[in-house]
Amino acid sequence: HAGHVIVVGGGFGGATAAKYIKRGNPKIDVTLIEPNSTFYTCPFSNLVLAGERSLDSIGHSYEELKSVFGVNVIHAFAEDIDGVAHKVTLSNGSVLSYDRLLLSPGIDMRWNAIEGYDEAASEKAPHAWKAGNQTLLLRKQLEDMEDGGTFVMSVPADPFRCPPGPYERASLVAHYLKQHKPRSKVLILDSKDNFSKQGLFTSAWKDIYGDMIEWVGVSGDGRVVRVDADKREVETEFGTLHSASALNIIPPQKAGFIADRAGVTNESGWVPVNPNTFESQQVADIYVVGDATLAAPMPKSGFAANTQGKVAAAAIVASLAGITAPDPYWANTCYSLVNPDYGISVAGVYKVEDNQIITVPGSGGLSAADASLEIRQAEAAYAVGWYEAITQDTWG
Ligand code: FAD
Repeated sequence: HAGHVIVVGGGFGGATAAKYIKRGNPKIDVTLIEPNSTFYTCPFSNLVLAGERSLDSIGHSYEELKSVFGVNVIHAFAEDIDGVAHKVTLSNGSVLSYDRLLLSPGIDMRWNAIEGYDEAASEKAPHAWKAGNQTLLLRKQLEDMEDGGTFVMSVPADPFRCPPGPYERASLVAHYLKQHKPRSKVLILDSKDNFSKQGLFTSAWKDIYGDMIEWVGVSGDGRVVRVDADKREVETEFGTLHSASALNIIPPQKAGFIADRAGVTNESGWVPVNPNTFESQQVADIYVVGDATLAAPMPKSGFAANTQGKVAAAAIVASLAGITAPDPYWANTCYSLVNPDYGISVAGVYKVEDNQIITVPGSGGLSAADASLEIRQAEAAYAVGWYEAITQDTWG
């Protein structure tokens, strides 16, 4: 018996880890717990929102993990975890035992952190920060919008899933509006004063969309404190009311609730991990990867979750074999599309030094501010290549 590993969550981190544990040692039994039989990726969901891709084109199944890699996939929800007894309770009533547990549950929304924004309100003012039905709800609002209306987006303070994601979304929404409803506006109400790739986004917005996109930072009264989803109205910190034709509230976030149930979160709502292995600092034999973790300077991205899944998989394989885990390195690139033919990116390589994750000096960086249109077009093509490669690496 080489051991039994349970993986909770079949997204970027969990599906990668399940596959790479099997690749590392096929004799280890791996059980993946994931409620959905199709996973819709947030990456490229902004293209679905803009009408440039179908939802189907960003859906991925677990068939290859099962048939090619021998992962046992159970479509259920993990409801509770006993880290001392090494047991996971599922929504279908069964209780499973593990030697090692890996959690990659992603994020949960902090409902009511913004007054009036709870789960019911998210049906009327979608977050679309988990892809699938939420993406379609927001797409419908965009389609129903009148020419001359305003698409209002509320963006949280750090840390949150996908730092450049809101600004890519604003761009692709503007791309849609420019073609179909050219008198409309995109208003971004932000709870911070700086954002990812800000210089690149703002100069591209000006060039491509003129004054269609307006961004208001926290100092300019950008922090949304109250939402009326029925009226599609928001109120900011200093009492300004904004009404929206389409309303997208991206609320503050925390680790998926199962991390709480496992006792691995701290007071921040996120999970502190041992940087060498991504094992929880608080509960032995539980490894956590992806958005749920505190892994700065790595961002909460699908790419980062994928590389963290590989590092944790190697650490679990080593630990079950009674040997030391290899020294980890991680990489990340976040592409953003300002329109379908205009890409920008930020990249980094990371390692551990003095028990901290650091950016490898001289690695990574941003797309050049003065790059030619050919380079922007090439980066948009690289983004498509990246998507094909990472989804193949994760689920294929
Ligand atoms: P997820 O991928 O969300 O997976 C979590 C899984 O766990 C889900 O399938 C869920 O059903 C399951 N789960 C949760 N709780 C339980 C439970 N109790 N029991 C069983 N299963 C459970 N990243 C990039 O790298 N590049 C991009 O271009 C990019 N674009 C983005 C655009 C948008 C609009 C958004 C919102 C995000 C984007 N991201 C991008 C970020 C990326 O989606 C996340 O960082 C990534 O999904 C994190 O992976 P994860 O494994 O932590 O969580």
